[in-house]
Amino acid sequence: MAFSKMVKPETTELLPLEVLRTERLAPHWMRVTLGGGDVEKFRPMGYDQWFRLFIPVGGDAGLERVPAKAHKLFGYLKFLRIPDGERPAMRNYTVRAYRAATADRGAEIDVDFVLHGSAAEGTAGPASRWAESCRVGERALIIDEGLTFNPERGTERVLLIGDETALPAIASICASLPSSASGAAIIEVPSAEDALDFTHPSGVSVEWIVRAHGVEPGSLARAALREHSLPDAPFHTYAAGEQTLASGVRKYLVGERGVDKNTVSFCGYWKNASAGSASQATREVATEPLA
Ligand SMILES: Cc1cc2nc3c(=O)[nH]c(=O)nc-3n(C[C@H](O)[C@H](O)[C@H](O)COP(=O)(O)OP(=O)(O)OC[C@H]3O[C@@H](n4cnc5c(N)ncnc54)[C@H](O)[C@@H]3O)c2cc1C
Repeated sequence: MAFSKMVKPETTELLPLEVLRTERLAPHWMRVTLGGGDVEKFRPMGYDQWFRLFIPVGGDAGLERVPAKAHKLFGYLKFLRIPDGERPAMRNYTVRAYRAATADRGAEIDVDFVLHGSAAEGTAGPASRWAESCRVGERALIIDEGLTFNPERGTERVLLIGDETALPAIASICASLPSSASGAAIIEVPSAEDALDFTHPSGVSVEWIVRAHGVEPGSLARAALREHSLPDAPFHTYAAGEQTLASGVRKYLVGERGVDKNTVSFCGYWKNASAGSASQATREVATEPLA
């Protein structure tokens, strides 16, 4: 499995958190704000910091049984011994925003979930369903995984490209970059309302591409890149979202535009089932995101 070099987190402890509130942001977006529990142990790194999320699809009893290091091979094998029906779902998500504790409240982590598929037809996936239905006070666990965005120190020019699942990461990268940063962001979303505005350095242009129903996810962003001029070198690329988009962008930039492969951070976030999916078990056991 290919993936670019990552920046490890300070700790990989299993952190129990709870749902503080939820907010429907757009047709395909649900924000779940997590806090409480061990949130003070969480170390924010900004950029595209991501984590493993354990979702209590089988209730709290399953959460109690999640072993430390459930994201690594041996821990994962123990995790699999939790009986079916009780075992939480493990999925990967991004820290969209982190707010430190104040005198009035504890620290908070916003997680923006893409709502996909249909709950009625059973195609939504446990994470998407949970984001839509979770209640305040409900518990979940996370394990910090650090960053995939890993430019050469001092690189301020960027090319950020992804589908809707990468929007939280792209927005958070933009919030973490210096205000003098420049470059372009190309983001494909499933409807105009899902193009959630975000703060970015004035030198970073943002191009939204709306994908019509039935169009292969990621294909429009890939096509748009072919028409796009690249920032002046040196610049760093972040490509994430549907697997073919992430790996295709890297292949295109390196193979056809002469970009140095070490300047491309890329990460397959999910795999389009109609394009021939890896089984969920295969994806869960991976210690690195799809790429
Ligand atoms: C490092 C990293 C960070 C991520 N950050 C975020 C984030 O902040 N927000 C976010 O929403 N996602 C994020 N993702 C993607 C998310 O982990 C996947 O979309 C995940 O598969 C969703 O889980 P699920 O339980 O809803 O669906 P699953 O059970 O995994 O999948 C069920 C079915 O839905 C399909 N599917 C999965 N995701 C999507 C989708 N987005 N659109 C359409 N079909 C889909 C699958 O192909 C499968 O057929 C991230 C992934 C990685 C690797």
